[in-house]
Amino acid sequence: MLICRFAAGDDIWYGALDGLGDDDEITEDTIVAPMAGHPFVEIRPEGSVLKAADIRLLAPVLPSKVVCVGKNYRAHAAEMDSEVPSEPLLFLKPSTSVIGPGDPIDLPWQSERVDHEGELAVVIGRMCKDVPVERVGEVIFGYTCANDVTARDLQKSDGQWTRAKGFDTFCPLGPWIQTELRAEDADVTVRVNGEVRQRSGIDAMVHGVGALVAYISSCMTLLPGDVILTGTPEGVGPLHRGDSVGVQISGIGTLTNPVRSEAP
Ligand code: ZN
Repeated sequence: MLICRFAAGDDIWYGALDGLGDDDEITEDTIVAPMAGHPFVEIRPEGSVLKAADIRLLAPVLPSKVVCVGKNYRAHAAEMDSEVPSEPLLFLKPSTSVIGPGDPIDLPWQSERVDHEGELAVVIGRMCKDVPVERVGEVIFGYTCANDVTARDLQKSDGQWTRAKGFDTFCPLGPWIQTELRAEDADVTVRVNGEVRQRSGIDAMVHGVGALVAYISSCMTLLPGDVILTGTPEGVGPLHRGDSVGVQISGIGTLTNPVRSEAP
């Protein structure tokens, strides 16, 4: 099932999306069935079905925290002149960095080099701690696309990553949540202005989804709606004002965001 969150008039709804096109994109035939309740508890259809083209999609989830994994693809670690760490390398993005599909990424004046990082995002569905690998499937609600936008120059000069990864608008999520994805069979493609910049199978990850959720939950309690960014493959590169960046994951869809500049 595809679960989206959207605005209609003054109201915000969750909805079930149906009838995507061949590339998992919204077409004239795509419909959204609004749902009452909350998808992490119970959802039931309510109200009349809408055309997806007539609604405004929002970030599909508002996480209490976004837990990220660094250097989880060998070829990306290599392009950063770095090794793959033996254990997952964790960092956080603040919840205030989250934006939805179509929302602009703001290039901050403090940075001269802001990169895209297309990633598979795991959406947690249940409060959990110390989840064994074999039970990880029970706590995953679904998957969405993410862009771990990074101020590369500040990441280097600060020596740690909070500011470089934490600016407002630096965590686009969406366009919706796929609850039935077989993550290891999917692939991720990032395009800037239509040109392919990153492309990889998800199976190239060093630490897979099960191992990551087990490892992270051995450290911190995960809450419903928390999001895990699983790392980016090779091909990261700069974004410029006026660009359009799309993160496509097969079986989910494409998260597209325009890029604008805060600078005067
Ligand atoms: Zn990343």
